[in-house]
Amino acid sequence: MSKLVTILIPVHNEQESIPELVSRINNVISGLPQYRWEILMVNDGSTDNSLLLMRQLHAENPQYRYIDLSRNYGKEVAMLAGMDHARGDAVVILDADLQDPPEILPQMIEAWEQGYDDIYARRNDRGRESWLRRVMTRCYYRLLSRLSSTPVLQNVGDFRLLDRRCVDALCSMRESQRYTKGLYSWIGFNKKEITFDRHDRVAGRSKWSLVKLFSLAVEGITSSSTRPLKLASLLGFSISLLAAVYIVWIVIKTLAFGETVQGYPTLMVTILFLGGIQLLTIGIIGEYVGRIFNETKNRPTYFVREIDGIERENDKK
Ligand code: UDP
Ligand code: MG
Repeated sequence: MSKLVTILIPVHNEQESIPELVSRINNVISGLPQYRWEILMVNDGSTDNSLLLMRQLHAENPQYRYIDLSRNYGKEVAMLAGMDHARGDAVVILDADLQDPPEILPQMIEAWEQGYDDIYARRNDRGRESWLRRVMTRCYYRLLSRLSSTPVLQNVGDFRLLDRRCVDALCSMRESQRYTKGLYSWIGFNKKEITFDRHDRVAGRSKWSLVKLFSLAVEGITSSSTRPLKLASLLGFSISLLAAVYIVWIVIKTLAFGETVQGYPTLMVTILFLGGIQLLTIGIIGEYVGRIFNETKNRPTYFVREIDGIERENDKK
């Protein structure tokens, strides 16, 4: 039997994008009749009519499947839910807003047939994004590549084709605070890069606020590296060393010249500086303790309300 390819689409309030998305996907897959297709949309707690559209699509064409999550879990978890339920020999992850053009799918499939397991798309151009966001993204990737042992590629998102092996590998990692971008490179396998031009959203607006992006950035660092902890010890060590030198200097100075009570500025500066460093390092440790706390609760990553029109009892991971 011919191979089955799943197109996995996390959806959060995308009712305006879905019609065009569907027509463009239909266009692309009609050009690849040698494969069987499954288009799996994951409704990640949409508050608009996205779910209704999915139900309709499934009723008209059973190739279109959907999972309705019990609430909004975020894209990372939505993708995990999709991968858990995908049946394909390969899974292509696609954004619903058409910023990832489905038209390069044939290219991905070709590379897959050549034996690659993870064909990721790198964008040439980030579309219309603010100047601030561009600069911050660049700084972030630089920091991340310094800190992390498994590199995260710049300008590469979740838009990629994953062989079944990669999907199984990703599904086996059940951490609830997921940073999938780090996981892709962690699992390894045969990777290949293709490039594309990123477009603007067709409708609606990005749900990433600056605050959300910042917490994703912290997530990315703390999930893939313990180097900030080492940095904290290094900082403590060098400051103690400086302090030791300073103590010797003070002792000598007092012995040689005596001491009139002075030095309020030095005292304040030292106290404030050390206080700041201590709070910073406690904060870093706190980030990791927080992660440990969340993972040890060992909760299911998500709950499903409905799959392809059938309501679920929550037996699923
Ligand atoms: N998305 C999701 N859950 C969320 C936020 C976003 O499933 O909580 C989906 C969204 O519907 C879209 C994809 O993730 O298909 C990318 O979202 P968005 O366009 O907001 O992110 P950006 O392109 O700005 O990175
Ligand atoms: Mg987008």
